[in-house]
Amino acid sequence: MKEFWKGAVKLAQTLWYEELQTCVICGDEGDLVCPTCTTDYLHPELGRCRSCGKLLLNEKTNCLDCEAGRGPKHLDQVTAWGHYSGGLRDLIQNVKFEARPRRLKEIARPFTNWAISQLPAVDGVMAVPMHASRLAERGFNQAEVLASAIHWELGLPIIEGVERSEATPPQMLLSRYDRLHNLKGAFIVREPRSIIGRTVWLVDDVTTTGATLEAVAEVLRSSGAKAIYGLCLAAGMEKILVPLGD
Ligand SMILES: [Zn+2]
Ligand SMILES: [Zn+2]
Repeated sequence: MKEFWKGAVKLAQTLWYEELQTCVICGDEGDLVCPTCTTDYLHPELGRCRSCGKLLLNEKTNCLDCEAGRGPKHLDQVTAWGHYSGGLRDLIQNVKFEARPRRLKEIARPFTNWAISQLPAVDGVMAVPMHASRLAERGFNQAEVLASAIHWELGLPIIEGVERSEATPPQMLLSRYDRLHNLKGAFIVREPRSIIGRTVWLVDDVTTTGATLEAVAEVLRSSGAKAIYGLCLAAGMEKILVPLGD
């Protein structure tokens, strides 16, 4: 009888208490982020451009774009957890287009640990705002979900006060030139008092050209923010220009 109860308790634990850990990116059993996904999408072996956050293919501190003066002007630094490809891109698209914001909560801890290891301590965390019409359509702002996950992990205050005043076309659908010009005047500061003298982590899901982070940083800077650090789940990877031979 004793054995029966032992067995019953063990079964109950398996069923209700000891959920198997699965990788948040590929779903395999094991770690929160499995070694294969870590290698394939987070690229721990690669550095990040100190300025724009792109993953670097050579050992240096800045990418070619930033070295050529095409980097962020209003951000002190940008960093990204991984590269926008494969499983990590699928996860981000699944969150946004299939309404699965909970998946962002699941990666809160490793993402926040990454942020702490890369960026200076700040007064608060701010999400890149979403226009009211897109928010109504999607039901949530993925950048806000990430910011609130960081808030819960670290107890870091959420800073608000910026709004997206124009519903611009999604950056994804535009060329690099149009992305850089699409956002002119798209963000406005509603509450300068919450921004003046502050240092912030500015959070978004993805950065490729950096145009969105830069547009928000510009209005934050003009309202007296002291330091602005971009923090994204995923960034692009530096493209190396390969000579075509002679
Ligand atoms: Zn995995
Ligand atoms: Zn760069």
